[in-house]
Amino acid sequence: MLATKHDKLPLIGPPLAGAVGLRVDAVAVDTDSLGTFTGDIPRQAPPLDTAIAKARLGMSAAGQTLGLASEGSIGPDPAMPFVNADREIVVLVDDDNGIVVWESHSSWDIIVASTSVGADEDLAQFLGRADFPDHQLIVRPNSGVLRPIYKGISSIDALATAVGECAAVATDGLARVETDMRAHACPSRRAVIAAAAERLATRVAARCPSCGAPGWGRVDVVLGVPCSWCGTEVARPRAEIDGCPACEYRKDRPLVSPEEGADPAECSYCNP
Ligand SMILES: [Zn+2]
Ligand SMILES: [Zn+2]
Repeated sequence: MLATKHDKLPLIGPPLAGAVGLRVDAVAVDTDSLGTFTGDIPRQAPPLDTAIAKARLGMSAAGQTLGLASEGSIGPDPAMPFVNADREIVVLVDDDNGIVVWESHSSWDIIVASTSVGADEDLAQFLGRADFPDHQLIVRPNSGVLRPIYKGISSIDALATAVGECAAVATDGLARVETDMRAHACPSRRAVIAAAAERLATRVAARCPSCGAPGWGRVDVVLGVPCSWCGTEVARPRAEIDGCPACEYRKDRPLVSPEEGADPAECSYCNP
């Protein structure tokens, strides 16, 4: 049972059907109560907790023991503040096995754009940057009372009307125009959700070597590869740790063989 208001079934259903034969249906629940992209309802919990809460809303609405949901976080990349990143989490809550399995995918190929404009300003350049109308828009007053708010705008006429109305009530005479980041309005986000769902499907298909539960996969990373000249540890992944969502079993998966050290060029001692 997929908790969605925004048409995510074609993104999440097929990979899970293909990998583990899970038949996925959508249930309409108002996941906006858990926070929205437009910021009219702030999100309170971390994204993974929000995704789990959404899945549980769907499960109780449909009376099912299995639930799926996704949650996205869009904003400046912490490592590259001038680039926007989209991280999508897709989660499977399985009360039959008492487990939660999740995967995520991140991408910089997300279209995020905003501007403030007067009623008769030329928006052509902005609309190109925003990939309109493939990507839909939200319009609201730039200042003062932040109502009305128009969402899911996909035609030039609707955009002009919304900009006119919002600019007229704004104290600075400007309308705020921005990309609508809801999944059904934002194709560049849909691609990231689909990729996260593919990863989840692969993970649900992987069984724990110890107890057989679904969801075996990476749970942690071990940093520290010794420099091949001096042995000082370079902060690079040495191994990944696979784990099971149902039992305590863990297994190291080395990424670097013991005889192959880190490049001295990365070493803070050899190459300060
Ligand atoms: Zn296990
Ligand atoms: Zn060194």
